Amino acid sequence: MKDKYGREIDYLRISLTTSCNLRCIYCMPELLEKESNISNEKLLTKDEIIKITDIFSKIGIKKIRLTGGEPLLREEINEIIAGINKIEGIKEICLTTNGILLEKNIEELKKNGLTRVNISLDTVDEDEYFKITRGGNLKTVLKGIEKAIELGIKVKINTVLIESPKNQKNILDIVKLSLNENIDVRFIELMPIGVAKNFKKVNAEKVIEILSKEYELENLEHFEGTSRYYKIKNSTGRIGFINPISQCFCESCNRVRITSQGGLKNCLSSKMEVNIIELLRENISLDEIRDIIEKNIFNRNEKSIFEEKEQSVQKKMNEIGG
Ligand code: SAM
Ligand code: SF4
Repeated sequence: MKDKYGREIDYLRISLTTSCNLRCIYCMPELLEKESNISNEKLLTKDEIIKITDIFSKIGIKKIRLTGGEPLLREEINEIIAGINKIEGIKEICLTTNGILLEKNIEELKKNGLTRVNISLDTVDEDEYFKITRGGNLKTVLKGIEKAIELGIKVKINTVLIESPKNQKNILDIVKLSLNENIDVRFIELMPIGVAKNFKKVNAEKVIEILSKEYELENLEHFEGTSRYYKIKNSTGRIGFINPISQCFCESCNRVRITSQGGLKNCLSSKMEVNIIELLRENISLDEIRDIIEKNIFNRNEKSIFEEKEQSVQKKMNEIGG
């Protein structure tokens, strides 16, 4: 379907949980506040997720991304993927994960229909990784990446940078992942959401400046969804930049989101949500739910509120799903 500004909406991101096995310093507080512990009955069930995806497929959604919190903590992840895989119209099922549980799960995920995986990795320095994630083990993530590549799954690395004296080395080291493997390394600009307001973002221009001093960097003049792509000369993978704040991509935004509690967010920055879980549980007919969703998506804002004043959204990133 198209929204009222003529943008085709064909991509749905579904958050499976707010829980996480890491505590990245810009995403989650060190200790969870009481109200962040969401009880199971408030989460969308496996069947509700599949039902919602089916409704969305009928309004033109073709690509699904499962995210969180950490989506691999959701026990029924394989059943969820298998259920979505049976829905006519869904062409791609992708996952965004911190990669801690990837190695032991990726084979089964692929069998059930997973097509792509984005792995969040902000540094390849073990100590830094431990610090940023408050306890994560880098080696475990790297093994997961290796296995995914072995299985022929397309891998993208998502890197969020916060200002740090170690960034120059960090940036040069992390892009090496793109040199000899078909891995895209994408730098995502930090958005002022929740605890991220305490950190300073690093601009893409700075990253490009650092990379250009070391490598011959080719601007591919290519936008793919929200990413602008470059390539290090003779490398196999690409370097991407996603700049939701400094380089608004609202004009071509094709995505909507469902939170783990069933809230439809038609823009990452919007506070308004349609409570789909309530509609499903009140036995509203699927046709009526579809109408409500269509109206909400049709009336999306033209631009995100980030662009207007770098205003922050109350919800935390682990609740929205990135
Ligand atoms: N736990 C999974 C992971 O880390 O990939 C999925 C959820 S996580 C919220 C999704 C993505 O959001 C991660 O790549 C993370 O780095 C990114 N993220 C978290 N907080 C952010 C922020 N304030 N601005 C930009 N990206 C953020
Ligand atoms: Fe967890 Fe992902 Fe947030 Fe890190 S970015 S705390 S891995 S949800």
